[in-house]
Amino acid sequence: MSEHTLFTRIIEGEIPCYKLYENDHVFAFLDINPLAKGHTLLVSKEPAPTIDQLSPDSAAAIGKALPILSRAIKKATGAIAYNIIQNNGREAGMTVPHVHFHIIPKYAESKHSFTWQPESLEPLEGQSIAAAIQLDINE
Ligand code: 5GP
Repeated sequence: MSEHTLFTRIIEGEIPCYKLYENDHVFAFLDINPLAKGHTLLVSKEPAPTIDQLSPDSAAAIGKALPILSRAIKKATGAIAYNIIQNNGREAGMTVPHVHFHIIPKYAESKHSFTWQPESLEPLEGQSIAAAIQLDINE
């Protein structure tokens, strides 16, 4: 795990940003290439590359910060809705391998969309994948 990701350099002030919020575990700032006005990145200070590698303390802090930031972004921007997106791994669209959540406001005039073409879940496949995942859940 790299200790000096791009986001660690932003957190440490080496690279400038429009900072919104910081506590012991998380740091939030405006995305440099926003999809919409107020597009925010909420980053764990712990430089875990993907969320499955994040410590419980950092995960809890992210969970606490998300609604706090979402409320502020909604109020300040007047957004009518918002998406929270979180990519893990290059193949999933992650370009900075350091856990972060995008909070992306949606306006009446917004053109962006995160809809996809859903498929039906076959009962046998549902049973087997649910059983396999349950077996691997370790708290
Ligand atoms: P990902 O594609 O990994 O989910 O998201 C990475 C995000 O980081 C992108 O939306 C990108 O615009 C943003 N980003 C990349 N470099 C910088 C930077 O130097 N400063 C800021 N504020 N955002 C950045």
